[in-house]
Amino acid sequence: MSTLDSLPILPDDLQGAPIVLSPSAPVSTPSSASNPTPSSANPTPGFPVSPPPPAHEPHDSTENDPPRDEIRRDEMRRDTGENRSDAPSSKTDPRKSTNPARAKALWSDSPEPRDVSAQPVSHRKCDEPGQSDEPDRAADLTGGKHLGVQQLFGGEHLTEDQQGSGEAAQTELFETNPPPWELAVEDDVLLASIVFSRSPHGPYDYRIPDSLREELKPGMRVGVPLGHRKKPTPGWCVAVKEGKAVHRKLRDVAECIDESPLCDASLVRLVMWMSHYYQVPAGQVFDTLIPSSVRTAAGTKQTTYFTPAKQVTDAEIEKLPAKQQAVMRFLVSSNRPMTSAELAVAAKCTEDPIRRLKKKNLIVPEVRREMHSGIRILAQTNDGEAERTHELTEQQTAALERITAAVDSGRGRTLLLHGVTGSGKTEVYIRAIEHVVSQAGSAIVMVPEISLTPQTRGRFESRFPAVAVLHSQMSPSERHFQWQRIRRGEVQVVIGPRSAVFAPLPNLGLIVLDEEHDTSFKQDSQPRYHARKVAHARAMSLGVPLLLGSATPSMEAWHATQSGHAELISMPDRVAGRPMPDVQLVDLRVRDDRAGGGAISRPLKQAVDETLREKGQAILLLNRRGFATTIQCPACGHVVACPDCDMPLTHHRDGGKAMCHYCDYTIGTPPWCPACRFDGIRYGGLGTQKLEVEAKAKFPDAKIARMDGDTMKRPGSHQRVLSEFRSGEIDILLGTQMIAKGLDFPNVLLVGVINADSALHFPDFRAAERTFQLVTQVAGRTGRGDRGGRVIVQTFTPEHPAIQAASRHDYFKFVEEEMVNRRKFNYPPLGSVARIIIRGPVEEKTEDVADSILTRLESARDLLKSEVRILGPAPPPIVRLRGKYRFHLLLQATESAVVGEVIRRALADFKTDPKEEIEYLIDIDPVNLL
Ligand SMILES: [Zn+2]
Ligand SMILES: [Zn+2]
Repeated sequence: MSTLDSLPILPDDLQGAPIVLSPSAPVSTPSSASNPTPSSANPTPGFPVSPPPPAHEPHDSTENDPPRDEIRRDEMRRDTGENRSDAPSSKTDPRKSTNPARAKALWSDSPEPRDVSAQPVSHRKCDEPGQSDEPDRAADLTGGKHLGVQQLFGGEHLTEDQQGSGEAAQTELFETNPPPWELAVEDDVLLASIVFSRSPHGPYDYRIPDSLREELKPGMRVGVPLGHRKKPTPGWCVAVKEGKAVHRKLRDVAECIDESPLCDASLVRLVMWMSHYYQVPAGQVFDTLIPSSVRTAAGTKQTTYFTPAKQVTDAEIEKLPAKQQAVMRFLVSSNRPMTSAELAVAAKCTEDPIRRLKKKNLIVPEVRREMHSGIRILAQTNDGEAERTHELTEQQTAALERITAAVDSGRGRTLLLHGVTGSGKTEVYIRAIEHVVSQAGSAIVMVPEISLTPQTRGRFESRFPAVAVLHSQMSPSERHFQWQRIRRGEVQVVIGPRSAVFAPLPNLGLIVLDEEHDTSFKQDSQPRYHARKVAHARAMSLGVPLLLGSATPSMEAWHATQSGHAELISMPDRVAGRPMPDVQLVDLRVRDDRAGGGAISRPLKQAVDETLREKGQAILLLNRRGFATTIQCPACGHVVACPDCDMPLTHHRDGGKAMCHYCDYTIGTPPWCPACRFDGIRYGGLGTQKLEVEAKAKFPDAKIARMDGDTMKRPGSHQRVLSEFRSGEIDILLGTQMIAKGLDFPNVLLVGVINADSALHFPDFRAAERTFQLVTQVAGRTGRGDRGGRVIVQTFTPEHPAIQAASRHDYFKFVEEEMVNRRKFNYPPLGSVARIIIRGPVEEKTEDVADSILTRLESARDLLKSEVRILGPAPPPIVRLRGKYRFHLLLQATESAVVGEVIRRALADFKTDPKEEIEYLIDIDPVNLL
């Protein structure tokens, strides 16, 4: 077992080159016949060809996850896809499964992966659910359990239930085969490949009935029969294709749920790529891509409109009772469809005559879905920010020229705009987008969290008439409304967090990822995608530029510029010739400076006092919320910890709470030690609440505001505080990293970093990088006006290279030294890393599963003859979370495709005992190793 410290991690990712699957990975080779991905037919340069989604299912704790046993069977089913790879799957004879050898292989626990070199297994048959015409019989024979799944297996796959009762299983196997007279040969059928969000995930083929031939398109949701469910099951159509000579009857698509595709062809390709790369079922990727408010059509209602039936004659109308006549005449003369409410008012009658007319088929109903009236999109108040369209600096002009040239080139390229804080990157984005818009194009701008940066939003909204801002505090109907506007092409610029990468803009011409180093661009639930990676895939597929921007580019982005995968554009100077602020390091080991045990050192206190005297403003950064970060008994040493996570609880003074910051477990702060009843329990460590108390005591005349996760829970609270700060009502703004991002206030003369080391000692190879970024970013909040600015950084390790580099604004020095560290262990960006987390309620059993996953990974690696380093299983820094024990494994190689392939093969048919409740999840290119 390795410890985390020695865990090597791998390189990402940011390569501009297409992700080419290793030739030694036949599993992923799309095969012509049943590959459901359109991308395989016509691979776009630069866009990875997606094989069908892997069957293997990374497991997560989200409620959407299918129960473990379902997954196991699902995987198994694919597993036995041997021999049917290239042949149309419909030719598979399910009776084969009665072959003892096959049955044995199916149940074998041998960790050794099958030799798949001859047959692609990961591409799944697509026709199974449609095949069986006799699902009910199968169900009856198996006691009605797991029906859908069993039926899908067409009798090929034993279930656990059947294992115990061989006879029943045999009968069932036999009975689900179609009798010979049902082996109809159908020519020229049109087939739809359908994937599902829940297990079984597909893809499976269905016949498209003539009535839906025109309507059904990839990217639409359809209802199809699945297993024994009475109602059609919703699924996503990923491909429409010609089928020939189908031997068994396929079931028909029952209905189209959407009137038009929710995803265009390029987004369907993106889904299939994500499904493959992140090893997540395509149906679940669709659910991520299309917000639930869109899927449920939030904020809309169905309205029925009536028109007169075509064949109605005057003579017929005259024979009707008076009320019905009145309604008919009104409708005929109105020349437009009318609702029954409108008709009733117009004809001065109840709705009864209308119902009767409908029964007689004299009027024809048509159901339309309409937006509720009254959805208002609140435009951002411009927050006093004056429009700043001053002349571009030379550096801005040069940067803009290169970006517009990239836009005009019509090629997919990655550009990194490395501009120091205050160098005017936003203005460059805006001008570049103006260029795109002038050619009838549109753009996506991703930012870490738009509600933290109302200024950015205001600037875009004042420069473009059609901006859609997506943010976390939107109501579902608002989100749906915006999505529809975007899709209809009514929007020029979409601004939002990582999910904005999926915005369905029809004429996308540029994707901007601002603050690309920010970790919020990685989603930490399934699918665990990184917006930078997905944006890259989307941009390359469309042949448009991807523009990354940062004052502190990630090592991945930087490495991409060094290895020729991205072009570097530099803006090393601030606008208006302003200097970078002076940074002074305060060594907290020096007793004199510490001044009475508080968090604010003597030099920092002096600086704040001076700032206040000059009527300037100050920002104080402390990256921990709460009051005290540990609650410890001085008598026995007991630390009050979360019972589910083994992490110390943080004391919050408001309400006297002790909270777990990992799972939100909350108790009243214990008045005495829970272990020894000593009543002098001590609150140690420092959080923003405690800092606020200290600041109020030290600067009694100053108006102080705190910005952290606790005070900023309400919608609009950021904006309120920031607007008070701008107007000068607040003198000192203190808070967590949310005050380090993007704020631009000319009157901020001082930034104080309370403890620069807080992120430095995390067991994560990115700890130094995060520290450098945080200190540099927050330092950049000052010196943005004509009055200059300065920064005081308190630290216990002033000599640390990351802190040294940050204090000198020296990004190049930092990357140079950091790259040496990364190279030592081949950490990203020099290699690629994946992480597998195994978690379960019983420690030993969880570790056993982790060990068997290791064995499988090793076999898969050896089989592929790949150079993948596998580390672990080891307990991660957070050993227990929400009551589950955790282990993790890390895989590292120089190529990400190889890592993915090893995992795909190793876990394709992996099953755990559902009773043990052990789950595993796969995180490709993890950014968090806790
Ligand atoms: Zn005690
Ligand atoms: Zn907890």
